[in-house]
Amino acid sequence: MRAARVYRTPAVVLRRVRLGEMDMILTLFTAYHGKIRAVGKGIRRPGSRSGGHLDIPMHSTLQIARGRSLDIVTQSETIDAFVALRDDLTRTALAFEVIELIDRVTEEGHEDRALFEFLVATLHRVADDPDPDLAVRFWEMGVLERAGYRPNLHTCVQCDHPLERVDSFCSATAGGILCPTCGARVPGARPIGANAFAMARLLQNGDYATACRVRRDEDLRRDLEAFLRAQIAHVLDRNLASTAFLNRVRSMT
Ligand SMILES: [Zn+2]
Repeated sequence: MRAARVYRTPAVVLRRVRLGEMDMILTLFTAYHGKIRAVGKGIRRPGSRSGGHLDIPMHSTLQIARGRSLDIVTQSETIDAFVALRDDLTRTALAFEVIELIDRVTEEGHEDRALFEFLVATLHRVADDPDPDLAVRFWEMGVLERAGYRPNLHTCVQCDHPLERVDSFCSATAGGILCPTCGARVPGARPIGANAFAMARLLQNGDYATACRVRRDEDLRRDLEAFLRAQIAHVLDRNLASTAFLNRVRSMT
């Protein structure tokens, strides 16, 4: 059976690359077709009606026509524009991290409805929640798990002893948390405080609601962010480009 020539799907815009004078090649994460690329015709034209529906990280319902090489977006209706991002550079930078991470860990053409829902929920949290950083940490933990890199938070990755909730060490190359004894001996291991470690477990268990209620001080934030960023950089074999942007924004504010 031939595939339908036109299909509709909710989608989030991940990336836009210029194509000629007026068009853009869009990288989209869609609900029904996973990550795809499609041409947005005429969206660089001043006053283009469809252009605004296709900004990063807009959540829209798109109608897409199959093309010979690339598919073409023929209609778009915005579902969520995440307007709260527009006036907040820090939240915008965090949203770019969310977007870049999903773009880096997914291949084109693999449907993953749950990941799509998680992406949309995360963008809402980054736009509207009191603590957008925690939403990004939850996202990072979830994406690591889906990508098959679940950090070991229950036994020391070196000596295999059950971990206690104490100040410990972490190492992305070793694959998770080290007990205080091993951590002090493993080159490159960095400290992670007991509270950040406990928070990492909450996030790994998917308990975002409880995580939101835990008091979070600067030490916890710093340790948790460093832990998850190191894990992700290890998996991707590089840092996210958007992290440098976020760091610049933070240094300005
Ligand atoms: Zn150990």
